[in-house]
Amino acid sequence: MSGPRPKGGSTRRDFLAHGVLAACAVPVLGAMGPFVHVRGRQEHDLVIRGGTVYDGLGGAARDIDVAIRDGRVSAMGARLAARGRDEIDAKGMVVSPGFVDIHSHGDGNLREDPRAESVIRQGITTIVVGADGGSRFSGASGASFSDWERDLTTIAPSVNVASMIGLGSVRGAVVGEADRRATPDELARMVAMVERALSEGACGASTGLEYTPGAFATVDELVALCRPLRARQLPYATHMRNEDDQLLEAIDESIAVARGAQCPLQVSHLKQQGTRNWPKLNDSLARLRDARAAGIDAWFDVYPYEAYQTGLTNLFPVWARDGGDAAFLKRLDDPATAARIRRESLGKVDVIGGWDNVQIARVSNAADRDAEGKRLGAWARARGEDPYDAAVGLLRRNDVDVGMLGFAMSEENIDKLLAHQYGMVCSDGGGFAIDGPTRRGSPHPRGAGTMPRVLGRFVRERKALSLADALHKMTARPADRVHLRDRGRLAMGMAGDVVVFDATTVADRANFSNPFQYPVGIGTVIVNGVVAVRDGQHLANPGRVLRARSSASNPS
Ligand SMILES: [Zn+2]
Repeated sequence: MSGPRPKGGSTRRDFLAHGVLAACAVPVLGAMGPFVHVRGRQEHDLVIRGGTVYDGLGGAARDIDVAIRDGRVSAMGARLAARGRDEIDAKGMVVSPGFVDIHSHGDGNLREDPRAESVIRQGITTIVVGADGGSRFSGASGASFSDWERDLTTIAPSVNVASMIGLGSVRGAVVGEADRRATPDELARMVAMVERALSEGACGASTGLEYTPGAFATVDELVALCRPLRARQLPYATHMRNEDDQLLEAIDESIAVARGAQCPLQVSHLKQQGTRNWPKLNDSLARLRDARAAGIDAWFDVYPYEAYQTGLTNLFPVWARDGGDAAFLKRLDDPATAARIRRESLGKVDVIGGWDNVQIARVSNAADRDAEGKRLGAWARARGEDPYDAAVGLLRRNDVDVGMLGFAMSEENIDKLLAHQYGMVCSDGGGFAIDGPTRRGSPHPRGAGTMPRVLGRFVRERKALSLADALHKMTARPADRVHLRDRGRLAMGMAGDVVVFDATTVADRANFSNPFQYPVGIGTVIVNGVVAVRDGQHLANPGRVLRARSSASNPS
């Protein structure tokens, strides 16, 4: 619940003052007296009337009103008598806690466009970023969680943002891009950076073990870096070392890290890539079940798409990327090394069924723009090029920075992962808008469609899971995992993060050929008690930085 805020954070009083200013649009001194008098004790800022309310805990819905005052839920009950300064008619609609996206890249474009349109219009009110080993702070001096928090507060995004600390970012800051063990002194510095970030409010530690330089960490190093999570019981969230042929070994490694550090485990975007690996679903889940039986607090998240998104370099072996981009390109120039890289890359492409299952998502070189949105196999054939050579050419011309989608997952497996008792929903998506500077490339549609896709395609059409279960896995469950204690639930005193949607029509519209489409069926999105989106109109940017509140030893 509310409690005192950590130092440096904005206070509830600050927020109220700003809210009043914004609502009245007149100087606060002139408005304060009469405003308070007129409102009276029983009135609310906002009342959502007549909706079918899910509290986020997974139980049955209730037909009640929900009132919000000073950014928090101030009343819940049938036909509340007190009026709101603003009222929302939710008859026939579902009222849910705002969605909490536990694995998001939605902060990447906030500086260019703080509206985070593709995020907020899905009903997501809180994003957890710093995923896949990469955070925008490392814990080094001059790049701390608090520095990042101050910066983001200035930007004023439409959604709340919490962040893990990325262990790849930490390694990059201390060890650099090289594939070598950290020295004892480096390891001590890295552990101190993790400690500092957690003490300032980071909500977990993440790895991206298919990405450099994070991939160069050994299990021992990861255990040491995750040990600070133990006292707070915050999660080690991992994009594992492998998600196809070595998937089960990668799950074993993740469990070994959590066991060694005695911290909770969050397997990020669990999937089985490549048709020959689809049957590993049951073994994947059995390993997590066994880990839990052995006392490890293990969970996973999943996104509802058959394609993943990553860098095109991910189709190339990690050893070839040791030392960074320049070193990678140099190896491609050496005939013997290049032949070995080619052999291993083609093996990786074979797992996902060939180059026509690879779609180019983003380039930076204007001359290659026609590749965006196209399957690499078809694009190369049209140019009369071998697809592998075409891929290498793209990397060379684009400073190694090329985004790709890989069509490699089974929708039946997604049904089971979404329905699973240890699962929760994530988007893994970016934030963008259909207008303005962030409309570029051909991003994964998950950035605009994840939550409505779960509610429409997987709940309503495929009946993979119930609406109450899906909402629980988008709200209270992820909020609990990262200790956002006042989020993800609708109850007295909880944060006023709410989404109002039509369960009979809610659906994603973004797809792989046109991701720049907002979902339908989501009427109102409220963040910190302020209406951010209503009837398709973006009205406000009420988001703020959220700090994890750990019961164990968090000094705040
Ligand atoms: Zn990832």
